Amino acid sequence: MADCIFCKIAAGEIPARVVYEDDKVLAFHDLNPQAPVHVLLIPKMHIESCNGITAENSAVVAAVFEAAGKVAALCGVREDGYRIITNTGAHACQSVKHLHFHLLGGVQLSENIL
Ligand code: AMP
Ligand code: ZN
Repeated sequence: MADCIFCKIAAGEIPARVVYEDDKVLAFHDLNPQAPVHVLLIPKMHIESCNGITAENSAVVAAVFEAAGKVAALCGVREDGYRIITNTGAHACQSVKHLHFHLLGGVQLSENIL
C-alpha cells in the first residue's frame, strides 16, 4: 500500500534490521526498542490492524505465528520466554497502520501488561 512504512520495509524500499523473512512474513528490529529484544513481526501483505483480519487473509497471520518461535530462537529468547503484543486502534496507541506484532524479551517482563 502506498505511503505505508511497513509495506515499504517489506518491499525493501526502506532499510530495516531484518531478523527473519519468508514469503509471507518479515521480522525486523524495532527502531525504538522497549526491551533488550524488541522485534516486529509483520505479514508482508498490507492489513491495517486486527480489525482487517478475515477468513480470506488469515493464513498470513497464521504464518506470522508459525514464524514467531523461529524468530524467538534467532534472537536467543525462545527458552527464557517472550511476550507478543499487538496494538489496535487509538486507545491502544497503534501508530503504524500495518498489522504488526511486537515480540519482546531478553529481560524479566512485568506480570502486568499495563
Ligand atoms: P505501534 O505503536 O504498536 O503501532 O508500534 C509501531 C512500532 O513501529 C513502534 O514501536 C516504532 O518504534 C516502530 N517503528 C516505526 N518505524 C519503524 C521503522 N522504520 N523501523 C523499525 N521500527 C519502526
Ligand atoms: Zn502496509
